[in-house]
Amino acid sequence: MKKYDVVVVHGDGIGREVCQAALDVIQAIPDVSSAFNFRDLPAGAGEYLKSGSVFPDETFEACKASDAVLHGATGIPEVTYADGTEVGIEFGLQMRFRLDLYANIRPIKLRPGITSRLRDRKPGDIDYVIVRENTEGLYAARGNGVILRDELAVDTLTMTRKGIERICRSAFELARSRNGAPSDGKRRVTCCDKANVLRSYAFFRKVFNEVGEEYPDIEKDYAYADAMTCHLIERPGFYDVIVTENMFGDIISDLAAVTVGSMGMSPSAELGERNGFFQAAHGSAPTIAGQNIANPYGSILSAASMLEWLGQRHRDERLGRAAAQIDRAVNAAMGSPKGLTRDLGGNASTSGIAELVIQNLPAALDEAAA
Ligand code: NAD
Repeated sequence: MKKYDVVVVHGDGIGREVCQAALDVIQAIPDVSSAFNFRDLPAGAGEYLKSGSVFPDETFEACKASDAVLHGATGIPEVTYADGTEVGIEFGLQMRFRLDLYANIRPIKLRPGITSRLRDRKPGDIDYVIVRENTEGLYAARGNGVILRDELAVDTLTMTRKGIERICRSAFELARSRNGAPSDGKRRVTCCDKANVLRSYAFFRKVFNEVGEEYPDIEKDYAYADAMTCHLIERPGFYDVIVTENMFGDIISDLAAVTVGSMGMSPSAELGERNGFFQAAHGSAPTIAGQNIANPYGSILSAASMLEWLGQRHRDERLGRAAAQIDRAVNAAMGSPKGLTRDLGGNASTSGIAELVIQNLPAALDEAAA
């Protein structure tokens, strides 16, 4: 039986608490837990304050060589470089750039037991995936912007044909594997850009169309990023897969997370050809850190997607089964009044949610067998 080496980077703020909750859930499945070697390594703003390095070489080398990386969140807003940018997020950005984790897959799903902040939406009405390009776009300029004479600042936006082709292909392939948009069942990929204003986004759309020709079975749709924020509020059920540039993906996924409950709800899988990096889509939420009140569902679901990805990659059915088991146990936990944290209108603790998900694991396994 293969053993999987997983690096765990807890990070800063609530990152530590939600990451621990996700680990507790995986470790409660004996079959799976015994298949993993977990190795805790440091990175983030706290580590920078301690050692002077936000992403120590040892952590980077271990992440690179690992089968997967599980992460909480990083960032302490007041820990900044002299240029005013934050130190802590260097970890996630360097992971993406140096390990070429080009596809950031962010499912947005309204689950049973969760009241949407959008009126009259019920579970099943919102179910789409944001495919965020993760290595190019505006954020590729990180650390290389120019400030001239304290008068002018420039960051450049980078798009390459190769980068656009591969992210669009990921989006179309994903759409093929899904059942279409909730409102009409159509398999659809929406290109979210600002092709009306900038050449780089017009190029993104052009390459999207070229790749789309290889997928005549998938409907192609278009939205400008500003209008997209309205559409995600007014007609979320229309969306199936949305592909977009790095910064736009960052912005719309926070908005999307709140429509399905809260920032704490949405998982992510950041994937390259070799490496996988799994963390919830939210940040380190410093104002609620250390209180055991953060919502860990996004992290627990990210851990489940790590199992699913590893299972597919290594044809290891145990892991695929465990991922589905965790998903069902999460639904069961959310459906119980004890399964809601403060952000969802309840008063459950972070560790209490992990325990509740764990309690629901045996029934979730039976459900699959039935
Ligand atoms: P944030 O996502 O940490 O918080 C935004 C809001 O959502 C806050 O009100 C917060 O309390 C709430 N929230 C977030 N996660 C929650 C959870 N699991 N449960 C309940 N409520 C939750 O974003 P921010 O405030 O813009 O950034 C805080 C820090 O996180 C900054 O240092 C930022 O750079 C960093 N950051 C890190 C990552 C990452 O590590 N992946 C991502 C985004 C931001």
